[in-house]
Amino acid sequence: MRFSDRVVAVTGASRGIGREIALRFGAEGAQVACIATSARNAEPTSQAIVEAGGRAQAYGCDVSNGEAVERLFAQIGEDLGGVAILVNNAGLTRDTLLLRMDEEAWDRVLDVNLKGAFLTTKAAIKAMMKARWGRLINITSIIGLTGQAGQANYAASKAGLIGFTKSMAKELGSRGVTCNSIAPGFIETDMTDALPETMREEVVKGTPLGRLGTPADIAGTVLFLASDDAAFITGQTFVVDGGLTL
Ligand code: NAP
Repeated sequence: MRFSDRVVAVTGASRGIGREIALRFGAEGAQVACIATSARNAEPTSQAIVEAGGRAQAYGCDVSNGEAVERLFAQIGEDLGGVAILVNNAGLTRDTLLLRMDEEAWDRVLDVNLKGAFLTTKAAIKAMMKARWGRLINITSIIGLTGQAGQANYAASKAGLIGFTKSMAKELGSRGVTCNSIAPGFIETDMTDALPETMREEVVKGTPLGRLGTPADIAGTVLFLASDDAAFITGQTFVVDGGLTL
């Protein structure tokens, strides 16, 4: 019960990595704001937390919409209190080679993956600064470190998130707020379900730990970074990829 006095906001909490992060915080006593594009999508996660004896509420918001994000955090503040831990996990891909990539595909990925984190962070940090305690955790990707053919927009958004993380660490450290990133490798979720079987096999072959990751592999790192055990860690990017990028 490491988080029983904390309000936690998790974006992209309806599925995959975000759902697991929300469930784990719920199991450790936090009040969890489960955020997805609609409250209806986030509801099964908040329900699962409540059914397991925890405290959670579902919210709908497009994180790339500034006004909607402001309203969302005002509502969470009213319902649950000030957010102490924010996990920026919402993300999407629009993969194609650069010559075929249109502006809309570039803008949408940057808007959700990078601008979304800017907007939610801006809305959440007032309460953290006032409390002189806070945790910002951004889910980036190994693709933000290595780049990837067909993913220029996604790689740029995730590399941007790493620069954003370091800047927040410097800007907010004196207020007791830490900011770190996690760079997952290939994790079994809807996002990677779309990969061809041959590519999955190649990834497993190239991974020293011999498997794809699970959402639980990422959630465990998030909870560590949110805990008091990580009080002296800020501005870092933690690669959680089974050794794939070694
Ligand atoms: P996923 O299963 O595709 O789920 C994406 C989540 O993001 C959903 O909850 C979705 O909500 C939400 N979302 C998408 N657009 C949004 C928007 N505009 N506003 C609010 N929420 C939005 O993804 P995942 O695989 O769990 O990935 C989670 C994060 O980890 C992403 O940032 C991804 O880039 C990163 N990551 C994943 C992998 C991997 O291998 N899976 C690897 C590295 C990094 P709805 O259900 O309402 O659509």
